[in-house]
Amino acid sequence: MPLWFARGLRRGVVTTRYPARPDSSAALLPAPPAFRPRQLTRQTADRLIAVCPSTALSRQDSVLVFDAGACTACGRCAEAASHAVTSSGEFELAATARSALVKKIPLLGEAR
Ligand code: SF4
Repeated sequence: MPLWFARGLRRGVVTTRYPARPDSSAALLPAPPAFRPRQLTRQTADRLIAVCPSTALSRQDSVLVFDAGACTACGRCAEAASHAVTSSGEFELAATARSALVKKIPLLGEAR
């Protein structure tokens, strides 16, 4: 029997202290992507859009539009272009307005 299980039964506490204290296991959770604008070109953006299964990504001219509310944190975009996309490490995405979850990322790699 795992030690944490026996300790939980003895103390009556079976959950972590989150959200009062950060939970170290949060670092292992899938998180939505973060983008490096200077690495983003239209070609890269279009590749990211093509691999996104939830249509969380779209492009408006030289802007990549990321809808964090639609993202499932699957990681496919980061796999497709690891030089331009990384994990944000942020999974607490509550917002009072849907529009607050939509981010516009300029494609700064175009200027090169
Ligand atoms: S993590 Fe998955 S769902 Fe989210 S933007 Fe990337 S490809 Fe789309």
